[in-house]
Amino acid sequence: MKSPFNPFEMAQAQFDKAADVLGLDTATRELLRFPLREYHIAIPVRMDDGTVKVFRGFRIQHSDARGPCKGGIRFHPHETADTVRALAMWMTWKCAVVDIPLGGGKGGVICDPHHLSAREQEGICRGWIRQVAKNVGPVNDVPAPDVMTTPQHMLWMLDEFEVINGGKYPGFITGKPVGSGGSLGRTEATGYGVVYTIREALKLMGIDIKTTKASVQGFGNVSQYAIRLFQQLGGKVVCVSSWDQGDQVSYSFRKLTGVDVDELLAITDRFGGIDKSKVTGLGYEVLPGGAWIEQDVEILIPAALENQVTGETVLKIKPSVKVIAEGANGPTTPEADKVIQERGIYVIPDFLANAGGVTCSYFEQVQCNMNFFWEKDEVLQKLDTKMTSAFHAVAELAKKRDLYMRDAAYVIAVSRVAKACKDRGWA
Ligand code: GLU
Repeated sequence: MKSPFNPFEMAQAQFDKAADVLGLDTATRELLRFPLREYHIAIPVRMDDGTVKVFRGFRIQHSDARGPCKGGIRFHPHETADTVRALAMWMTWKCAVVDIPLGGGKGGVICDPHHLSAREQEGICRGWIRQVAKNVGPVNDVPAPDVMTTPQHMLWMLDEFEVINGGKYPGFITGKPVGSGGSLGRTEATGYGVVYTIREALKLMGIDIKTTKASVQGFGNVSQYAIRLFQQLGGKVVCVSSWDQGDQVSYSFRKLTGVDVDELLAITDRFGGIDKSKVTGLGYEVLPGGAWIEQDVEILIPAALENQVTGETVLKIKPSVKVIAEGANGPTTPEADKVIQERGIYVIPDFLANAGGVTCSYFEQVQCNMNFFWEKDEVLQKLDTKMTSAFHAVAELAKKRDLYMRDAAYVIAVSRVAKACKDRGWA
């Protein structure tokens, strides 16, 4: 029988491959194969009906060799310690590949915000901070939003942290609302970053973006802004999928003339769930959730969760597909990776493609620290510069050493972190 998908084992297998290419010594391997520190916490919350419910949560710090740990907090009913471990490790590589002075961490709470009132969610946010307040902070670990967490959640967390510490620490957390220490452009940053890397990949391949079509999995924050910018640059997104909370399955929605983000947003809930009963009137075909991957397009953008492009689903990818840009963290399994590599599809790996979010988080911290905020154009320009140069560094190494793009990104990221460990005298 096939063992169930374990993202941490997948992250370790990817790391091992890079460690082999780099010939890393045993101590550095042991240091980087596992998180530095883990906090497993219980969060008691008084619910609206008067009962107390205890939620389980995590903060996992993978590496702080290059700077304070950095990474989001997810609210998800299926969160596991191993998922958070993997995501923390990927954050380390993500910050390293774009060369920002931060390490990697990730947090999570096992909960489903679909079924929680705003007051109950506030209780979870404040309770999470109370449990880890001594172990996080602007100079050691800086959280941010991720799946099903928002700027509002970040502000509740900041507020609790500031009450506990008796001062203002806006650089403690990023992805805050604009006006409360947030950066302009942060909402757009991850999705836009994905498209900056697609734009550069297409240039290298000599393909005019205006002749391309894309299909996107997921309709959350990353997907929405990726679709917007991709279409602004002249491409067409013909299919998008989203989770249906009522039916507990996802659906794909196809419109060959191009999906319209604004018309879809008008019928989308706050979690990115599109109301399937209303799409037909807008000219969309309703297809099974998995259909997003089998579209006749040049570009696939998985922008939902991990474990989506698998040994099975990879076989459905059409010959027209030239680029896969991973908006999500860990969407592709090593089994699927082999097939993609053999077929010569150009992969822009997750921790490079979706690094725009954390890069803008870093800008947010910088702006908070100097208490001076930039215009949106300036933020996005700096983001574009950072993403474009990170992409080309990886693409050049991949070409020079004939490496798969994911492996090239790993080689750059892991070697930077390994060097920091060595320079600090840790390994
Ligand atoms: N959660 C996002 C990610 O996976 C952003 C992290 C951050 O801004 O710290 O990259």
